[in-house]
Amino acid sequence: MDRIANLCKRRGFIFPSAEIYGGFGGFWDWGPLGQKLKENIKAAWWRDFVLLWDDVVGIDGTIITNPKVWEASGHATNFTDVLVECKKCHHRFKGDDIGQTCPDCGGQLTEPRRFNTMFKTTVGPVEESGSVAYLRPETCQTIFVNYENVRETMRMKLPFGIAQVGKSFRNEITPGNFVFRSREFEQMELEYFVPPAESRKYFDEWVTRCRQWLVDHGIKPEKIQLYEQKPDELAHYSKATTDILYAFPFGKGWSELWGIANRGDYDLRQHGKMARGDEQVFATAIGDDPLAKQVPYVIEPSLGLDRMALAFLLDAYDVVTGGRTTTTESTKEEEVVLHLHPDIAPVKAAVLPLSKKPELQKLAHEITQKLRRSWTTMYDETGSIGRRYRRQDEIGTPFCITVDFESVEGGKRPQGTVTIRHRDTMEQEVVDHNDLVAWMHERLG
Ligand code: ATP
Repeated sequence: MDRIANLCKRRGFIFPSAEIYGGFGGFWDWGPLGQKLKENIKAAWWRDFVLLWDDVVGIDGTIITNPKVWEASGHATNFTDVLVECKKCHHRFKGDDIGQTCPDCGGQLTEPRRFNTMFKTTVGPVEESGSVAYLRPETCQTIFVNYENVRETMRMKLPFGIAQVGKSFRNEITPGNFVFRSREFEQMELEYFVPPAESRKYFDEWVTRCRQWLVDHGIKPEKIQLYEQKPDELAHYSKATTDILYAFPFGKGWSELWGIANRGDYDLRQHGKMARGDEQVFATAIGDDPLAKQVPYVIEPSLGLDRMALAFLLDAYDVVTGGRTTTTESTKEEEVVLHLHPDIAPVKAAVLPLSKKPELQKLAHEITQKLRRSWTTMYDETGSIGRRYRRQDEIGTPFCITVDFESVEGGKRPQGTVTIRHRDTMEQEVVDHNDLVAWMHERLG
């Protein structure tokens, strides 16, 4: 984990928030490569769970909303953690994580007390009790309160889903393990509304689909595990929850990455009761019979984007010794390679002129600009070619395109051709530079 955190800092993926002021516990700023990484994960998720389906649509709700939402959802009373504090060193812990004595100094712990983890703010110029509002601790509630708006305007019939990607905030007692547990993070959530009688079938389908999505995007199958929560572990709204655990390198070795919950009809009933005084107000036609109405159940796959990004980085990270670079430079140094799936990699291609000769630069710039219209492309002309390959391997760039003298003058290879080096196999392939866009398109879409 330290190596990943170090790489993320050194190569511009993730920085402590406001680092020049010493950071801010549980908050992280995503640098240029981290921002791209997250954008790519969101795009892949949105494509595979929203765009490709007839029965799923997306929304973009607000972070701050009517506080009644959190009363109805149960967060105002139930979204709590148990806090204990060491009387000696004053370190704070989540009460359900530890025993009787302070793990840091052995001191005595205070009695546990409940602490609501929603961030409070006030809306409007006057701070008074009536102006208190909360930063959302999960994105899904704006989906539930818009259920009727979306169903009607988009003419959706059960089963159908509403997806949302956005920021969530939790005043975690013990943020940590790098970005695994932060106080501000992004979630990718989907609420799939189903006829109650069929909820188990859809729940099982979603668990399978989510797991498969991870594997399809390069996560090693042996690093993930399904965990079905026991009845006493379920959240207040849940009828069943299966967590997809990833082998994060801390704690017990396996921690939650993605939670898939059958929330039953809890949320829609609660909002029906609170907003309209009728739990049945969101009852929806089941099948073609408009009279056979029920409040739908909802299956919720909920994934943390920051946690997902961390899992991708950990899973892709590889250290090779003995010299991987193929051409001029062989090295005994350790070389880091991020074997990120091409959909996820922040930079898709790097264009490397072999020397700083103007004719090579000209062609290399031309190629870079052409590729940039579709893919994030880096131009790098400094340092030996081996060093430049290593820089790209370290950030997971799948393709390095080298422009050399034969590219402009011809020789053993036809004029106009460039060499493409594949990150994982280090194979070199010769391609005419005019065919590069088509070549990339075939591999990246
Ligand atoms: P945990 O048990 O780790 O606190 P949770 O069960 O409270 O998580 P959910 O409420 O199910 O989490 O949230 C759904 C997803 O959002 C989680 O699977 C995780 O990926 C992500 N997530 C939750 N809390 C955080 C956090 N503090 N920082 C980063 N991601 C988070």
